[in-house]
Amino acid sequence: MIFENIAVLKADGTYLPSCYVGVQGAYIRYVGETPPAEDYGERVDGNHRLLLPGFVNAHTHVAMTLMRGYGEDMPLQSWLFDRIFPFEDKLSSDAVYWGSMLGIAEMLMTGTTSFTDMYYFCEDTVRAVMESGIKANIGRGISCFDATKRFADLPAYTDTKALIAQYHGAEDGRVLVDVAPHAEYTTRPDILHDAAELAAEHGLRMHIHLSETASEHKECVGRHGYTPTRLLEQVGMLTQPLTVAHGVWLTDDDVCCLSQHDVTLAHCAKSNLKLGSGIAQVEKYRTMGLPVAIGTDSAASNNVLDMVDEMRTAALLAKGAACNAGALPAGEMLHMGTRAGALSQGRTDCGDIAEGYRADLVVMDTTHPALCPANAPLSNVLYGAGSRAVCMTVVDGRIVYRFGEFTTLDMERIRFEVQRAVDQITAQ
Ligand SMILES: [Zn+2]
Repeated sequence: MIFENIAVLKADGTYLPSCYVGVQGAYIRYVGETPPAEDYGERVDGNHRLLLPGFVNAHTHVAMTLMRGYGEDMPLQSWLFDRIFPFEDKLSSDAVYWGSMLGIAEMLMTGTTSFTDMYYFCEDTVRAVMESGIKANIGRGISCFDATKRFADLPAYTDTKALIAQYHGAEDGRVLVDVAPHAEYTTRPDILHDAAELAAEHGLRMHIHLSETASEHKECVGRHGYTPTRLLEQVGMLTQPLTVAHGVWLTDDDVCCLSQHDVTLAHCAKSNLKLGSGIAQVEKYRTMGLPVAIGTDSAASNNVLDMVDEMRTAALLAKGAACNAGALPAGEMLHMGTRAGALSQGRTDCGDIAEGYRADLVVMDTTHPALCPANAPLSNVLYGAGSRAVCMTVVDGRIVYRFGEFTTLDMERIRFEVQRAVDQITAQ
């Protein structure tokens, strides 16, 4: 496939008004201002179109679309313990599959080509990923409230081992497996330590919630004498490449510590706002050397899985919180939502438009009124049209969404099955 005469926005915000982008198999093989000599097959007219790298959602729980609107206007602890956990106790493999399909559909139609997930019934989410064509890093949430159990005794251990054996690297690397302890406050230090050993043994990345709320952060210091970050360091988790979600309450010492290791912070601005958790000072974190990517968190606390909406919120919030219009400028924001996210998944050949990169691409329709005039195309996308202008999404060179139609998903069936699954759970 070749995009002809198309405007391009690279991950760092660089704007190229007219390009040829040739895709062969899963890869971008040509980027230039003149037509390539080779034949790339299907021609896509780039007139009134803008090509961007696909967005990477660095932290979500995709199947929680099932719980969209199920716990509203509540703080994290009661939202989690009074609404979410009781619903999750009744989850089935079938419900998670359809919930994942719904979340994936929403992500594909809003330009997300890859996501990092932590949840249960992961095989069903993996199946949805494989069938839909999106890519994902999948982690089985590890938690433990039973003092007699060690990591190797937990279903999460068995599930993680099975996932690694069966799916790590599947579909030409579209599916990767992470080791994903839920959080410091839902497990014990020895389990975090053993989980890190498992990740090291298999060369895997890790994923955890960190210092999301003030109370969680303070209680950890009370329990262990360390902040959650220093506890992760203590148990050996920082020796593994790691994604930490939220980090709202990190101290300066925590940020210094994290930035000395292979750690990316997944900033989930909207979830933090909606659950009243606070505002992560990501502009400061970045200047202190901590890489920041963008995540939506789940549809139960957002309530959408829309990365452009998330980037817009993060940028506006950073500017307002710092009383500094220059905080998180558009180019840096796009980098966080694309390339930084890909790197946080260990996908070094994803997240930008350049020769040799995976063809994970989003096409926007620039006839949308909010994308006109093209004084600042990136700002027009981020602060203006948003994902409403997405007209095509490509993952590994395959068109998975085009002009309102999914090529891999049956939306009517997905809506029906999700409602059926939710009705079944809430009737119990
Ligand atoms: Zn989360």
